[in-house]
Amino acid sequence: MTDAANTSVLIVGAGGAGLSLSLLLEQHGVSSILVERRVDVSWLPRARNLNFRTLEVFRGLGLEKEVLAAGTHVSRTVRKDSLAASGHQDFPSIEDILRVTDHPEALSPEPMFWYCPQSVTEPLLGAAARERGCDIRYGLELVSFTQDSAGVTATVSDRATGAQTVLRADYLVAADGAHSHVREQLGVPVAGKGVLEEHYIFVYFRAPWADVVRGYESDAVLIDRPGVRGFFLITDPDRGMFLIQQDFEQEYTPEHCRELILDGIGVPDLPVEVVEIAHWRPAQQVAERFRVGRVFLAGDAAHTMPPKLGMGVNTAIAGVHNLAWKLAAVLHKQAGDALLDTYEVERHPIAALISRQSLVGPAATLITGGEDDALLPAEERVSMFSLIIGNRYRSRAVLSEPPAHPAPDGVELLNGPEDLTGVPGTRIPHGGLARNGESISPLDLFDGQFVLLTGPEGAPWTNAAPEAAAATGVRVAAYRLGPDADLRDPDGKWWAATGLPADGVLLARPDGIVAWRTDALPADPTSVLTATLTAILARDS
Ligand SMILES: Cc1cc2nc3c(=O)[nH]c(=O)nc-3n(C[C@H](O)[C@H](O)[C@H](O)COP(=O)(O)OP(=O)(O)OC[C@H]3O[C@@H](n4cnc5c(N)ncnc54)[C@H](O)[C@@H]3O)c2cc1C
Repeated sequence: MTDAANTSVLIVGAGGAGLSLSLLLEQHGVSSILVERRVDVSWLPRARNLNFRTLEVFRGLGLEKEVLAAGTHVSRTVRKDSLAASGHQDFPSIEDILRVTDHPEALSPEPMFWYCPQSVTEPLLGAAARERGCDIRYGLELVSFTQDSAGVTATVSDRATGAQTVLRADYLVAADGAHSHVREQLGVPVAGKGVLEEHYIFVYFRAPWADVVRGYESDAVLIDRPGVRGFFLITDPDRGMFLIQQDFEQEYTPEHCRELILDGIGVPDLPVEVVEIAHWRPAQQVAERFRVGRVFLAGDAAHTMPPKLGMGVNTAIAGVHNLAWKLAAVLHKQAGDALLDTYEVERHPIAALISRQSLVGPAATLITGGEDDALLPAEERVSMFSLIIGNRYRSRAVLSEPPAHPAPDGVELLNGPEDLTGVPGTRIPHGGLARNGESISPLDLFDGQFVLLTGPEGAPWTNAAPEAAAATGVRVAAYRLGPDADLRDPDGKWWAATGLPADGVLLARPDGIVAWRTDALPADPTSVLTATLTAILARDS
């Protein structure tokens, strides 16, 4: 056994959560080591659609253009007799089924949904992370760990050689998926419906099917005729996945699966190689705790959900976006330990809500032919807007308390995009600002720092920001909006929508969540701002 260098954060698992966290920590200047037991990036096309909030996170990482270029906004769901058959029947598009708003351009600079399957996203994130110097180690499995008051000691095993290495880190983030061993080892119980009474077979296969899927390259194609019923998920020209609802009378041998696939493709002599047959049942479960001492649960390890609303990886990335800046602030000694508690306080309620809401959804309707109303009664369902962005954090990292609208699961929900007005606990509103003659979104002002925005008469606030930042050690980018200011609000609408006066101010955290606002200009803005940052950062904890 060898001892390796220390790191600040040990990340376990290179799925969407782990890879995104690695990139986010790098942006915050935090060292990390990511260990992944697979020998290489996964090509399995599981999550297909990224939502706009995930794209906003990638935008903040400077990766949005690459992700958009690697995917497409057109991912149709169609029905055909076989892939080779001519013509198809269209199902409503994902944008229509999961409609977030009638005015997407007012909500986000990003498209509401973008088709970019996990088999494309993960290699892209992995390559970007490596390019930026992130330490990502495939073929290494976390075997065990212990924690003490100063850090975490982990033993990882090289899957090829069996050689074991001890790693020491300040914190461990378990992004090790739905069957998280870290969660098990911590003894954290899970709550929820558990594994559902739904049985599917995933058949992963290789086949030179480019000609036959031409025109459907990013689509989900339902083959539905006597003898064969299932979805082809098309992502690559030489491999794919066939998703079947399990028939208990049937044994799913490789030969039978190959026959089904050939039948579904409709080209009898196509060389199809079945790579893997996985029996799969969706699960809905949420860990009761997301933090135990120096160990955090993230992504599916913290919250598993059926893929019926396509929220799994999106929720995973939203979670690590919430966690990354907090870890960085504590590791850089800008924040107190209690800031780290707010990860669970903020993310647990919304993740639990999303997980439960994912019990029903359009993906299930198509394959099973109907939704199970008993899983989630219609009157308890909330909108995609609420799940993705229309909800409000309450924690000690969010100050001031105007009321919001409670939901059954205890999450405060907003009615619609018009409620995103810079209320503390919500994502800063998008809108058309201008800097140096170029149009930008307020979301573009973030690159790992706090952002202070004030109205045309708020110069005392922008003057106060450098001193308050120096006193607390964090970076604060301060902007005054006005005709003669660096940041212009061309028609004055953005600031007006916040409802703040010309000398009011709002302060957003590095994750774009508004942490505080006031409409009163105090005699000493520097000390008010310093005290505010001190409170948000839990520096007194
Ligand atoms: C059919 C299907 C369709 C889906 N569609 C969507 C969708 O459209 N949109 C969406 O948002 N979500 C979707 N999901 C869900 C999505 O795939 C998951 O939510 C997402 O992959 C979770 O990411 P993660 O990083 O938390 O975990 P994972 O992607 O599961 O990654 C965990 C990683 O940890 C590694 N690991 C585990 N244990 C160890 C260990 N001890 N040491 C080292 N490494 C370890 C694993 O090898 C794995 O690579 C779908 C899922 C399925 C099955």
